[in-house]
Amino acid sequence: MATIAALGTGVMGAPMARNLARAGHEVRAWNRSPEKAAALRDDGVEVRDDPAAAAAGADVVLTMLADADAVRDVAQRADLAEGQIWWQASTIGIDGIEECAVLAQQAGAVLVDAPVLGTRLPAEEGKLVVLASGPDAALDALAPLFEAVGQRTMRLGPAGTATRLKLAVNLWVLAVTQGTAETIAFAQSLGVDPEWVLEAVEGGGLDLPYFRMKSKLMLAEDFPASFTLALAAKDARLVAEAAKRHGADLPVAAAIAERFTQATEAGHGDEDMAATYRLSKPS
Ligand code: NAP
Repeated sequence: MATIAALGTGVMGAPMARNLARAGHEVRAWNRSPEKAAALRDDGVEVRDDPAAAAAGADVVLTMLADADAVRDVAQRADLAEGQIWWQASTIGIDGIEECAVLAQQAGAVLVDAPVLGTRLPAEEGKLVVLASGPDAALDALAPLFEAVGQRTMRLGPAGTATRLKLAVNLWVLAVTQGTAETIAFAQSLGVDPEWVLEAVEGGGLDLPYFRMKSKLMLAEDFPASFTLALAAKDARLVAEAAKRHGADLPVAAAIAERFTQATEAGHGDEDMAATYRLSKPS
């Protein structure tokens, strides 16, 4: 069994820490807002006051934080040790993971770039998909941890590969969400019942569970966050930046980045990303 420092216990980090503890690992958690980490005590998770206290002597340091700035700051405060495995699971983009590789190298730590697919519910149920990249020995060591949080692990090669795949998958997620918002709003603007759209595609190749799930939130205009609009805007910007850097021409990604940023600035950042619908719905 491993000793794990879980740094960041938000929507995703908390259930991951809980499932690791339930699988029998020793988990010490730290979170910037301490009350979120404290809530894990009942699940056998030890709570520490700062990242260094959580990381000291741990086999694995897991970062599940909002963005690259938070990861850089917290990893520096964690004082990573020689030989320690750093499981970086946050979505931080290509520049972000490259910075982590430098930090890990300076500390003599081993970077595993392993973001996850799936949102609040799969995280709670231990049914995430882990996109794992890094040295083979470290991936072998983390295999039981990946099993504790996920239903499936993809092993992808050197660190940086998983972050790239995560961006590609997230573009699909973002495009479906924005496409759903516009389809519902457009139908409403035409005086067509949006439920008819769902009925029309039922059972066919376009009948995505995700389309159904997100359109339900939009029709109810109620957006409890599984994945916040603010973080989705961050991901859309990461996709757009990576596309620019690597020579792909992605007008939809750029438009979604702009739109989600606008919706966040309009005060909807803490709602689920489905709240992008608010900007499209007919007045
Ligand atoms: P979240 O609930 O907003 O949690 C974000 C975490 O980052 C919290 O622990 C927060 O601390 C911490 N944080 C933010 N800024 C910080 C800073 N400057 N210094 C220290 N800590 C800071 O987000 P989440 O949904 O768990 O997402 C976490 C990461 O996973 C993100 O990169 C996200 O893109 C990615 N992800 C999310 C999902 C999803 O569906 N939700 C799925 C896959 C991947 P406080 O509690 O103090 O704010």
